[in-house]
Amino acid sequence: MDKTLVPTRSVVNKKYRSGTFTGRLVRYFADHKSIRKIFASSFAVLAISASFIPQTSSVRAQSDDAIIQTQTNLVTETSMKYPVEPVLINQNYSFLHPAIDFGGELGESIKPVMAGIVTYAGWDYSGYGNLVVIGSKTADDTYEIYYAHLSKIEVKTGQTIDVNTEIGKLGETGHATGPHLHLEIYQNGVHLNPLTVLSQ
Ligand SMILES: [Zn+2]
Repeated sequence: MDKTLVPTRSVVNKKYRSGTFTGRLVRYFADHKSIRKIFASSFAVLAISASFIPQTSSVRAQSDDAIIQTQTNLVTETSMKYPVEPVLINQNYSFLHPAIDFGGELGESIKPVMAGIVTYAGWDYSGYGNLVVIGSKTADDTYEIYYAHLSKIEVKTGQTIDVNTEIGKLGETGHATGPHLHLEIYQNGVHLNPLTVLSQ
């Protein structure tokens, strides 16, 4: 267990000598999985980062404020269902991981969180592995929902799916350290924390 888990300025400065203090702090969080879990939401990370920013650093503070504001505005009435049962969260949503990782059994059936049209179904070279992307529209919003690391894809690009369609099987393809589903949601082109819209 790392004894220097509390990211005081001296600890962070000692570990990372280059870059801005905020940059060093972000890297400090990125390197400490246990801290990522404690400060799971990007809001917490940014709020803490912001508290370390000197008053004179107005440009930096402004951009962080803008991000916090975007996150706050993304709370929505839209309700979606969980893509796997039972619900086990392996990794939470954060600035560094704008998605939710659901743990589960290899080969477990994955159902979409909302109905829509498959906009991509195939291999992704950037790390998602076998990836299904589903586009959906509500009266007010458009969604692009990524289901990544699948062991098997069960749908085709262009296919219309509802919430009962099996879109694939849980896997560990691409950059994954174990079987899980990486669920990433864009709402109107901006990342949304899936847990704000998933219902139990
Ligand atoms: Zn993930």
